[in-house]
Amino acid sequence: MTQLRITEIFYSLQGEARTIGLPTVFVRLTGCPLRCQYCDTAYAFSGGEMRSIDQILAEVASYQPRYITVTGGEPLAQPNCQQLLTALCDAGYQVSLETSGALDIAGVDPRVSVVMDLKTPDSGESHRNLMANIPHLKPDDQIKFVICSRQDYQWARLKLDELQLAERVGDVLFSPSFNQIRPSELADWIVEDRLPVRFQLQLHKLLWADEPGH
Ligand code: SF4
Repeated sequence: MTQLRITEIFYSLQGEARTIGLPTVFVRLTGCPLRCQYCDTAYAFSGGEMRSIDQILAEVASYQPRYITVTGGEPLAQPNCQQLLTALCDAGYQVSLETSGALDIAGVDPRVSVVMDLKTPDSGESHRNLMANIPHLKPDDQIKFVICSRQDYQWARLKLDELQLAERVGDVLFSPSFNQIRPSELADWIVEDRLPVRFQLQLHKLLWADEPGH
């Protein structure tokens, strides 16, 4: 029986990315090998409960959702995550995967929309970016930069250009790190430089601050 360690399964509104604002079931897997300085889900680093894929599917189904987001922690740190993603797609859901960009996405079911971070220098984890992932990104995927400073913004701008990200994926997301730069500052830079990116604020933080379960 295939099992995964799960921190929480909950129903809420999607707080970011392309389906922002839409009712979504979140499956939060336990564990992450990274330690970004701004991490807001440190409670998912350890603990959790082992659950079989059948148990996860049953709990997800009880909400009768259309959208499912598999998140963490870093979900791909558990090899059985691949099987879970495929099982969710087979069940007919629209599935997205939030991943740090530090683990291999090559085996992810192609029906899944991958929302992949590129970690900026001020995250403290940019050395973990697995650049071999870039060619595996599909038009339906999304790349996310969490920007902590002007220096991070310049770095992200460079990567956008160097890796031709706007041509590679459906959305490139620029998000201000919560309480680290003023959101309006980042918005102004994007407009000034006419970048082909989507600015986003984390809706769940505006609505519910950092409470788990949202
Ligand atoms: S990758 Fe995500 S879960 Fe892991 S430390 Fe960074 S922000 Fe936290």
